[in-house]
Amino acid sequence: MLFYSTNAKCGPVSFRDAVLRGLADDGGLFMPAGIPVLDPDFLANLRNRSLIEIGVEVAAPFVRPDISQEDLAELIRDAFPFDAPLVQLSENLHVLELFHGPTLAFKDFGARFMARVLSGFRRDSSRPLTVLVATSGDTGSAVAHGFYHVEGIRVVLLYPAGKISVMQERQMTTLGGNIQAVAVAGAFDDCQRLVKEAFQDPELRERTSLTSANSINIARLIPQSFYYFRALAQLQDLSREIVLSVPSGNFGNLTAGLMAKFMGLPVHRFVAATNANAVVPRYLETGIFQPQPSQKTISNAMDVGNPSNFARMLALYKSDPDRMKQDLCGASFDDDQTRSAISELYRIYRYPADPHTAVAYLGLKQFQQNSTKQGIFLSTAHPGKFQDIVEQATGAGVDLPQRLRECLDKPQHSISLSSRFEALKSYLMDHP
Ligand SMILES: *Cc1c(COP(=O)(O)O)cnc(C)c1O
Repeated sequence: MLFYSTNAKCGPVSFRDAVLRGLADDGGLFMPAGIPVLDPDFLANLRNRSLIEIGVEVAAPFVRPDISQEDLAELIRDAFPFDAPLVQLSENLHVLELFHGPTLAFKDFGARFMARVLSGFRRDSSRPLTVLVATSGDTGSAVAHGFYHVEGIRVVLLYPAGKISVMQERQMTTLGGNIQAVAVAGAFDDCQRLVKEAFQDPELRERTSLTSANSINIARLIPQSFYYFRALAQLQDLSREIVLSVPSGNFGNLTAGLMAKFMGLPVHRFVAATNANAVVPRYLETGIFQPQPSQKTISNAMDVGNPSNFARMLALYKSDPDRMKQDLCGASFDDDQTRSAISELYRIYRYPADPHTAVAYLGLKQFQQNSTKQGIFLSTAHPGKFQDIVEQATGAGVDLPQRLRECLDKPQHSISLSSRFEALKSYLMDHP
């Protein structure tokens, strides 16, 4: 498959080039030249297909001919030793749990797939690839775990010293191996500036094979389509229409769902569920896209005022809001509503949900007010990652998952650097 830029100012490139570049030369995002429609036999026989089987079928047309069918199957088996289970709460209410990966959040799907794709493309080079990431917390740990022990790659994580939570710091600094955590004396903005400066430094790029694990990389998007098919493979009754609610920030998750629908996923409608950062629901209402400064909420992974994947959504629907509205409706909720939803999910169904999941539940509930269709809402994080908020809202204890508890006891590895670019540059050059 060839990939083109959403800015349409540079020619199409191969899957391999799209992954290695991340962003197109004209600053646009890569999109497949066409969305392949899956084999009708495959779609008709979705029932009980595993995540791995589905992944191979869905990804194959995108990665051909750069990755062979055999390599793809092996890569997917290695990336996904965990599932995306569908839990039924009532006749028309299901939750798709996307938090069974190592960092207990759905970003594991994208990060783990992308890490293995990059590693495969680097197999013949003698030098490791350096993935440089600035993080204010969660992205860093998903990327770090995704690339952990992946051959031919080292990850350098820049985080603002003393400005991230203890748990976030532990998740990044207790891995060791090919993961190097760097505490920068400064703010998150300094970390981002350092990454930018590093990419603009020709000598450094040349010497260290620098790349980013940017969230807009096409290799992070494709695997996010897998679990939509996996959700339907677990549904009892496929004869009734289905609505899917997706808690959204940068809209990568939802874009992957829309792509799945283009591929043939039999879904009636998606709900774009957001917190107070509601630029996409507003676009669906008015046809005008107006980015805003982001607002802080308790579902903070969705505090995005200018969602990066919106360009991809426009590309899918040829910038026609009416066409987009046939597949998608918007919904937005404040923090009080989110807290009440966490409490309600626990009271009625004994289901502990994190704040992002609660926003998706609210979006689905709003849609179902005028419809008897069966619904699935996506759970993007384990409730234990937001222990305080969940315990306050439910009045019940939430277990901290084993994996989070374990990293509290492990030794931390981290180095400290000033926020001057020269310090980072000499560190990277001296430790290739
Ligand atoms: C990143 C994230 C989201 C938002 O996903 P997008 O693809 O950016 O829309 C939702 N929930 C959690 C827990 C996340 O980490």
